[in-house]
Amino acid sequence: MSKGLSFAERMSRAGTETAFEVFAMAKEIEKKGSDVVHFEMGEPDFDTPEHIKNAAIQALKDGFTHYTPAPGIPELREAIAEHLNAKFSVDIDPNNEIVVMPGAKPGLFMGILAIVNSGDEVIMPNPAFPIYESVVNIVNGVPIPIPLKEENDFRLNPEDVRSKITDKTKMIMLNSPHNPCGSSLLKGEVQELAEIVRENDLWVMSDEIYSDIIYDGEHHSMLFEPGMKERCVLIHGFSKSYAMTGWRLGYAVGNPDIISRITKLQINISSCPNAFSQKAAIEALKGPQDCVTEMVSEYKKRRDAIVDGLNSIKGIGCKLPTGAFYVFPNIKDTGMKSRELMEHFLHNARVAALHGDAFGSYGEGYMRFSYATSLDNINKGLERIKESMEKL
Ligand code: PLP
Repeated sequence: MSKGLSFAERMSRAGTETAFEVFAMAKEIEKKGSDVVHFEMGEPDFDTPEHIKNAAIQALKDGFTHYTPAPGIPELREAIAEHLNAKFSVDIDPNNEIVVMPGAKPGLFMGILAIVNSGDEVIMPNPAFPIYESVVNIVNGVPIPIPLKEENDFRLNPEDVRSKITDKTKMIMLNSPHNPCGSSLLKGEVQELAEIVRENDLWVMSDEIYSDIIYDGEHHSMLFEPGMKERCVLIHGFSKSYAMTGWRLGYAVGNPDIISRITKLQINISSCPNAFSQKAAIEALKGPQDCVTEMVSEYKKRRDAIVDGLNSIKGIGCKLPTGAFYVFPNIKDTGMKSRELMEHFLHNARVAALHGDAFGSYGEGYMRFSYATSLDNINKGLERIKESMEKL
């Protein structure tokens, strides 16, 4: 008798990214002939800068179309080390302390897979990028959520982290600038978190993929706090800074023990990152940086417009974010649940935004808008929302 086809039990614990679900719902509406204003996807609307594309085209023409060394080509690792060393006055060894991967996401996945055992507790902000909780659950770890409070400008409070440490705590996940809240940790907070990590002999995984998109103040990297080179896995990449989401290229930086393990996993999963994307990434880091400055200054204009616009709508209150390209307005005074409002915006205003609880239970009462879209779209979307809220 057939046992029936079944799946690994771990799959029941895997989460997903709701952005893709809402995007699909919006596409259904568009298929029926209505247009939708998109605020749901977290990806730059800018095209990859021309000089970066040209570097990839040249690499293809030069026959750079084969496997590369598993941790990425040495020239790219050297360029990453130079970039980080210059930016943060540190001393990263490109040969043993960097692995290049097909995106930042594989770094999160492989890093967690290499560090977290069944039953280990991983402290993480909530709301947060949903993949953190999903991957920790896949490996049978225990996500320990720390609520991000609006009254603390959605920044992780180190004292809240300290209060959740137990003898099972293995790692702290950080994300600054933050998706979905747009908040950024202050220097003092990064220092205090580093102290907690050192005192309790923990790992810290610091997802700093938005660190080039910062509007007020400076980015403070966890990796560069004393003693953190031994304990921190820095996750970064090219997707957001250089509008390169489709190139699938990111990297992890850490001590040689964790980097060699991530590299081993990479050999098991993908052998190496994409060859010609790596050539493009060298150009991204070594070429002119005004493309980044220009994109950030455009995002800033959009941030100001969307914050002002949302604050002018009854029932919605929106803080001014300091980084990334997201706003996380409070919608509690609308009297609706986040998911209900997401559906209302989609069907009655033809605006796609994400319900806050898609980023964890403490996101209920909020919505996430990605403002990586033109000012015209932002204004159109805001007008539609305003009109739909007046009709309620
Ligand atoms: N980390 C955060 C916080 C993100 O928001 C995203 C993408 O939305 C990623 C990682 C994934 O980056 P990549 O496209 O390089 O895999």
